[in-house]
Amino acid sequence: EMPKIFVTGGAGYIGSHVVKLLGERGYEVLTYDNLSTGHEWAILYGNLVKADLGDKETLRKVFEEFKPDAVIHFAAYIVVPESVKEPLKYYRNNVINTINLLEVMREFGVKSFIFSSSAAVYGIPKEIPVPETAPLNPINPYGETKATVERILRDLSNSGTDFHYVSLRYFNVAGADPEGKIGFAYPDPTHLIIRAVKTAKGEFERLEIYGTDYSTPDGTCIRDYIHVTDLAEAHILALEYLLDGGESEILNCGYGHGYSVREVVETVKKVTGKDFPVVEAPRRPGDPPVLVAKADKIKRVLGWRPRYDDLEFIIKTAWDWECRGL
Ligand code: UDP
Repeated sequence: EMPKIFVTGGAGYIGSHVVKLLGERGYEVLTYDNLSTGHEWAILYGNLVKADLGDKETLRKVFEEFKPDAVIHFAAYIVVPESVKEPLKYYRNNVINTINLLEVMREFGVKSFIFSSSAAVYGIPKEIPVPETAPLNPINPYGETKATVERILRDLSNSGTDFHYVSLRYFNVAGADPEGKIGFAYPDPTHLIIRAVKTAKGEFERLEIYGTDYSTPDGTCIRDYIHVTDLAEAHILALEYLLDGGESEILNCGYGHGYSVREVVETVKKVTGKDFPVVEAPRRPGDPPVLVAKADKIKRVLGWRPRYDDLEFIIKTAWDWECRGL
């Protein structure tokens, strides 16, 4: 009997890539997703319960029937500027609904939890590459919701129950399933690689570079881009670690090196073979100049060995996904 894994947000970008790996490895999977931004076609294994984490009665019923051994929790709102305009929406979904889930886990004795955290908990870090020990210092409500849940998880794991968790702090997740079955599919994407690839495809007239006067070698911001399938693999390892009785851990998910916006744009042009207009625009408020993970802890604790640490490959899979069906 393979373990049964309850996945919230399994219809979304990262969740669907994890569901795919879980299914391929023989786990029993159930996705719980309200489909507010996810898609049923993205769930390649197991069933979908289309419901909201605000609906605790449905959550209880599903736990009663499915009897999960572990929970992987992706369901959350993720758009930083929207979190500034609608903080209550973000705190309710990302914090209160996570509390609902943790309460139902406790009622049913489910002890293992994997949480989708974010490098946004660091705000503008003083130390680069940023280690997991850096202070939580988010600079927007989205990051606050992730930091708040991390504090709740810390306190819960210290409360004398045998609840244990792994919090994975994602850096800049990009690319798509190398087999081309799933990929990023949100309306109005704001992320650099997606926007650049869609601009190469002609969906946008031009790409704006937000800020060219940062104190970096070419003046543009540097980020640690990680392939979504490598990130998905980290979740599988975290799951095996917890099911084997591992202690609670907080782990950065990045490669430990970064690329500037200009380097990403040049690589998109090279990989796609398309030239497109690029214009210099003002800084985007709240962007740290450099955000790169200290990436050794996850390798040590989980034995994670990334396979796709290659910007051209990341962009190629994103491009192939955008061009699917053509
Ligand atoms: N960026 C940009 N043009 C875009 C989108 C993003 O110059 O159309 C920059 C953004 O200012 C940041 C970097 O690209 O410096 C990565 O931004 P993204 O939104 O992809 O991820 P973030 O690091 O904000 O989570």
